[in-house]
Amino acid sequence: MMGHLRSLWNAIWRLVVAFFFQRRKVYRTEFVTDLPDKLKPNVFYVVEERGTRFHASMVCPEGCGAILNMNLLTDDTPCWTLRYDDDGSATLIPSVWQKTGCGAHFFLRHGRIVWCRKQN
Ligand SMILES: [Zn+2]
Repeated sequence: MMGHLRSLWNAIWRLVVAFFFQRRKVYRTEFVTDLPDKLKPNVFYVVEERGTRFHASMVCPEGCGAILNMNLLTDDTPCWTLRYDDDGSATLIPSVWQKTGCGAHFFLRHGRIVWCRKQN
């Protein structure tokens, strides 16, 4: 009896943890003309002015605290393409790779982080 209760509780706990883990990894898109002094961890910022998108910025999802800037101007390299879903969630192409620092390598797909390699 106690064993059953415990395994049921463990199953519920795993669902709760998975739920919050997923929520934490969802980025909301915000359009700004200037980046705020302190970036919120769950916001994908798109910096634009008069219809021109300059770059996108986000706090590194790996947790190192670095601010990642992705250029959106097509006449500059490297350059990322930004797409939106109907719900406003962003997809960034290609992947983001922190070649210096923490080495995070991931895709932003539909506002969610999809890791390219296993975390250490
Ligand atoms: Zn990082």
